[in-house]
Amino acid sequence: MNNILIVEDEHLIARLIEMTLTRAGYRCTLAEDGRTAADLIETTNFDMALLDIMLPGLDGYALLECLRPQGVPVIFITAKSAVKDRVQGLRLGADDYITKPFAAEELVARMETVLRRTGRGGRELCAYDVVLDTVNHTARQNGEPVELRRLEYDLLELLMRNRGAAIYRDVMYERVWGGIPDTESLRTVDTHIARLRKKLGWMDKIETVYKIGYRLKKEDCTGNGSLPGGCSFFWQQKKEPKKTAAVSTQRTRDLGAARPQDPQSGSRKGRGLNESSITFRS
Ligand code: CA
Repeated sequence: MNNILIVEDEHLIARLIEMTLTRAGYRCTLAEDGRTAADLIETTNFDMALLDIMLPGLDGYALLECLRPQGVPVIFITAKSAVKDRVQGLRLGADDYITKPFAAEELVARMETVLRRTGRGGRELCAYDVVLDTVNHTARQNGEPVELRRLEYDLLELLMRNRGAAIYRDVMYERVWGGIPDTESLRTVDTHIARLRKKLGWMDKIETVYKIGYRLKKEDCTGNGSLPGGCSFFWQQKKEPKKTAAVSTQRTRDLGAARPQDPQSGSRKGRGLNESSITFRS
């Protein structure tokens, strides 16, 4: 599991990034100021750092200087969008640059690219007693290989990447099988879920969510407390955009409210669908 350093002084943005990455299978360490981050960099081996530029204490550029000798890849996450700021970051040796606001999906995709490019990929996803090798598309349970068909693996990976979130059956079908689902294809989803439950002995871990679909029960192991509203906004219903982040503070409403419009929504009967729905703003 890759160990990621997140340096961001806006607490809620930092927590949302952490939550997204934890769900995507990364181990995360948070620092909310430059000095704390510099101390962590001295004492901990990280596989990647996500750095805000404007930080109390040391700024992101100074932290980049600390990280370069260790060969730790760096992605800048910042409100600065001016070309000269991007150029400065890249010239100093950052591996990529992402400007707020951005979607969770984009961040994870950029991280995967950088990790692959720098030979730190080969990422594993873990839930309960199962570890997925997302490069070789194999699964192990308690260290023993599990025989999964390709579609079963894909379905399991989808569930594991979205632990704790209820996913509509038609979204599952679209993601795993492709194409527009009909009644028959939704039954196919049910059949594969039943097989996964049986193969893994996860009868109680893959939950049926009434009138929606399925959810991989979240392990109670983060130890990080939780954001108000939990994680359920990840696969929210598009019909209710106002309820997006389900978080009570104005700040967080601002974070979650600007989810991108999906031009295909009409064909999907208004069902919630995409993980781009988290948008991080500065
Ligand atoms: Ca900042």
